[in-house]
Amino acid sequence: ASIFSAVEMAPRDPILGLNEAFAADDRTNKVNLGVGVYFDESGKIPLLGAVKQAEKARVESLPTRGYQPIDGNPAYNRAVQHLLFGEDSPLLAAGRVITAQGLGGTGALKVGADYLRRLLPSSKVYISDPSWENHRALFEAAGFSVETYPYYDAKTRGVNFDGMKACLNALPANSIIILHACCHNPTGADLMQSQWREIIEVMRARGLVPFLDMAYQGFADGIAEDALALNLFAASGMQFFVSSSFSKSFSLYGERVGALSVVTASKDESARVLSQIKRVIRTNYSNPPTHGGSVVAAVLSTPELRAQWESELTGMRDRIRVMRHSLVEKLKAKGVAQDFSFIVQQRGMFSYTGLSADQVARLQKEFGVYAVSSGRICIAALNTRNIDYVVDAVAAVL
Ligand code: PLP
Repeated sequence: ASIFSAVEMAPRDPILGLNEAFAADDRTNKVNLGVGVYFDESGKIPLLGAVKQAEKARVESLPTRGYQPIDGNPAYNRAVQHLLFGEDSPLLAAGRVITAQGLGGTGALKVGADYLRRLLPSSKVYISDPSWENHRALFEAAGFSVETYPYYDAKTRGVNFDGMKACLNALPANSIIILHACCHNPTGADLMQSQWREIIEVMRARGLVPFLDMAYQGFADGIAEDALALNLFAASGMQFFVSSSFSKSFSLYGERVGALSVVTASKDESARVLSQIKRVIRTNYSNPPTHGGSVVAAVLSTPELRAQWESELTGMRDRIRVMRHSLVEKLKAKGVAQDFSFIVQQRGMFSYTGLSADQVARLQKEFGVYAVSSGRICIAALNTRNIDYVVDAVAAVL
């Protein structure tokens, strides 16, 4: 008998399954709001001008294809640290931050999870309720037991801050807490500065281990502004983990460009921690690919390209904002009684619309408008040509 004869079919990834159903739908007016990707006004994934130029220069220089160091491209890792913590960060000057290039934000989370499992084998991991689906799966796959802390409050469409704080305040020391640094996926609800300060104080007092996931830097208020939580943690004196990604901010999804950074207590600790993280990487994929990291490093360290990237990122952020306002206004103009003004408050690429699973199913079946069953839609998949159709469809299922 085949060794595979008893293998069961794994459940389909809910979002990738949605994409397959969308691809198979032959309606010409169909709209996919289920994705986690930024599309431009023409409905395409942009290739940023700054990226195009850096890629052209790189290809023309005909670089050889030797192995990278286990922890990746040093120029890239330095650029990541500057973007996350600021060039003048005292933590960087003190050698308290180590960074390893990762395979996107997901790869960075995975390396961080595997390392934490070795460091703190009896800790539990806590993710927000709800969170990005892959957080649970990824930390469970690393061997952790994963639980949730209260986060979203459907009544206020904001954060259940008291619930979150009370939960964290009751956890044992060394519990690992996954936090969305900005642009919470899926809800779009972020903590305010004063709330971050309170959460940091609770985590510091209880000895919890923060792991900040930063997949959307620059998609809410700006590059430096969106690093607020990170910098508050940096100022707290705590040790913490950061996974970051250029999938969205550089539109480099398939190149898998991300990083794992760890803030330690001293330069000496940094050296030891990095040596252990390199061990995790070495036994996973040995070392990361060259292209994406070198393109990002070139853009970030070349003043003209950097300025161009910042302006292109601002363009993406502004277009999302325009689509949020437009969606709210058009629903109102359509005579929809329910107040959707919360959509303009939500941050990042997504909106948690409050549409029920039944309403989402009707959108798909009757209109070819695809959304996640939780009611999450990708605002960056809207454009001036499809928004009226989406508004009509939403109004019809309410
Ligand atoms: N973390 C969150 C919260 C995300 O939403 C995503 C992407 O959707 C990621 C991490 C992973 O990003 P990447 O595509 O770089 O692996």
